[in-house]
Amino acid sequence: MRVAVVGAGLAGLAAARCLADAGHGVTVFEKSRGLGGRLATRRGDGGVIDHGAPAIDAPQGTALAAAVRELAAGDLAIPAGGTLGAPPPDAPMTRPVAFADGVTQFAKRLAVGLEVVRGVRVAAIRDAGDALELGDEQGNGLGVFDAVVVSAPAPQAADLLERSPEAPERVAALRALRYHPAVVAAVGARLTPPPWWIAYPEGGPLAAVVIESAKGRPAVDGAVTVVMRLTAGASAEALDAATDDAVTAVALDALEALLDVPVHAEWRQVKRWRYCTVATRGDFAAVNPPGTRIVVCGDAVSPPGMPAVYDGGLAAAGRVLALA
Ligand SMILES: Cc1cc2nc3c(=O)[nH]c(=O)nc-3n(C[C@H](O)[C@H](O)[C@H](O)COP(=O)(O)OP(=O)(O)OC[C@H]3O[C@@H](n4cnc5c(N)ncnc54)[C@H](O)[C@@H]3O)c2cc1C
Repeated sequence: MRVAVVGAGLAGLAAARCLADAGHGVTVFEKSRGLGGRLATRRGDGGVIDHGAPAIDAPQGTALAAAVRELAAGDLAIPAGGTLGAPPPDAPMTRPVAFADGVTQFAKRLAVGLEVVRGVRVAAIRDAGDALELGDEQGNGLGVFDAVVVSAPAPQAADLLERSPEAPERVAALRALRYHPAVVAAVGARLTPPPWWIAYPEGGPLAAVVIESAKGRPAVDGAVTVVMRLTAGASAEALDAATDDAVTAVALDALEALLDVPVHAEWRQVKRWRYCTVATRGDFAAVNPPGTRIVVCGDAVSPPGMPAVYDGGLAAAGRVLALA
């Protein structure tokens, strides 16, 4: 079979690898230049910074943990230090593993050997008789496939399925699924690293604070890189309205209160995520009726946690294999 996978995040790449391993022709389309989706790493003033998910949560016994082990090349780091506070149920972090060069390393390795077309947003799926033809935003054809796995966040998956032969009820079911946004501020500061690698402060505007040097990444020019994610409420307010300076000021005030020391940022950067964690979750089986040639996966239709997102990608591949 020829299968297209839309999205090169955790779920899409799990599906793509599984289908390729089963001997099918797979093409992955990713709208960004980078791989990994919300497993996102940036290189800048502070060296390697995970400005999406802070680590991969790979509890033992999961398929995700097995894949991490298989693809590690001696560069896995268990973050040093403990956890302050508890992760929220919608973003668990029970057995964090990091890659010295950033969490995207895992996505890059999942993609080795796969045909990945980057920088192309799939905008339509047209009926082509026994097959499905993908199209981009300019109306260009992207190829003809027997099945399509859509791993984009639910609102984007709904936009795509709206321009496909799919039933409107399926689009409506996806449209009902919601995400929390996240605004993330990263700063470099000369400070003594705390004894934890991640903190989940209670009250205040910060949902999580991460010390990047605890992931086996040395301080750059003596400055420790701290990545702060605003709470869902604070992020929703700041997402389209607050300037980067305003976001950083709020985050730094809360960081000073948490560490109980003054913090002077030597550099700063802000990343805004419209879709971060799932607020209203759907059910994989309900969203994907048996026999459908367009299979939707991703965190909005998986139970909470990265292992379940990865499993959802494998389940999507299983649905496609069942068509064959
Ligand atoms: C700041 C932050 C912190 C987080 N912390 C945690 C945590 O502690 N614990 C936890 O469990 N989870 C956490 N998460 C969530 C976790 O990262 C996600 O649940 C998981 O990575 C989602 O994977 P996915 O494959 O479903 O989606 P994504 O990673 O979003 O992948 C979907 C991909 O599809 C692409 N795409 C979308 N539309 C199209 C299109 N039309 N054509 C082509 N490509 C398209 C996107 O560019 C993206 O690359 C966090 C997320 C963020 C942003």
